[in-house]
Amino acid sequence: MKPLEQSTSRNRQYLAFRRAVLTSQARQIVGEPSTSSVIEFLRLPLQRLPQPETVKVLLDRCLRRSANRIYFVNAHTVVMSRKEPALEETLNRGDLLLPDGSGVLWSSRLLGKPIKFNLNGTDLIPALCKAGAPKGLSVYLLGAKPSVADDVAQSLTQTHPGLTIAGIQHGYFEEQDLEAVLDDIRQAKPHVVLVAMGVPLQEFWIDQHAKHLPGITLIGVGGLFDFLAQRVVRAPYPVRRLGLEWCWRLMMEPSRLGHRYTVGIVAFIYIVLQDSLFAFKRKQNIATQQ
Ligand code: UDP
Repeated sequence: MKPLEQSTSRNRQYLAFRRAVLTSQARQIVGEPSTSSVIEFLRLPLQRLPQPETVKVLLDRCLRRSANRIYFVNAHTVVMSRKEPALEETLNRGDLLLPDGSGVLWSSRLLGKPIKFNLNGTDLIPALCKAGAPKGLSVYLLGAKPSVADDVAQSLTQTHPGLTIAGIQHGYFEEQDLEAVLDDIRQAKPHVVLVAMGVPLQEFWIDQHAKHLPGITLIGVGGLFDFLAQRVVRAPYPVRRLGLEWCWRLMMEPSRLGHRYTVGIVAFIYIVLQDSLFAFKRKQNIATQQ
């Protein structure tokens, strides 16, 4: 085997091994008996727990200070992860991957591994804050434009009395300020840092710096701060119920999200069809071998 082929095949073996470990870790933490709460979805190990159980798992991990890298996976993340293998590897090194958005839910049905629960950050993080406030949860807000996180802090502490905002830092600091930002987080000793820098920047940031922030859970939350600070208006509840929040977002920010929700959706459908065809062929090969 050529060296490059050898390293690719080793990478694949490593990723398969990580998926198996993640599956068993999640089972132990959640206390699930035989049926796993994790499924392999488009090469990523996704949780499929209802929201209340997921909040419990998250809160428990934050309060126990077992360091974690937690990511949300939506259609855009999948497309990006296929374009950038480094992102796919980063996601696979994560400790908990949560399904986000109707694209993931619909395609999971098509792939025969239905995920029922949409664990998007816009609902899950406020639920985490609500559950954590009486238990003394402390949160550090990192990301978005200056002043956005200040508004988020105000809104979260008003809505969830008891919640501690351990620190705030916008997401546009210079590379030379990185050490100061890491020091600030270490000194603040939050249970959790919400990293709102968008995909894939936040995933790479978390993966790179988790080891420098021991005992702190890091969660990539994308555009969450813009929603919580009401810089971006969320879709009305009936639109969300229909799984059409993405249409709403496209209408709200057509120039920024136009490419993602047109070319991106086509790319996502292509990936899903390609993977389902591959899975079908694999099944047929197994059947003919038996
Ligand atoms: N952002 C940031 N630093 C950067 C680039 C982006 O803090 O260098 C913030 C941006 O202000 C926005 C968020 O990251 O609040 C990205 O939002 P988006 O809706 O694009 O997130 P995604 O869809 O990737 O989850």
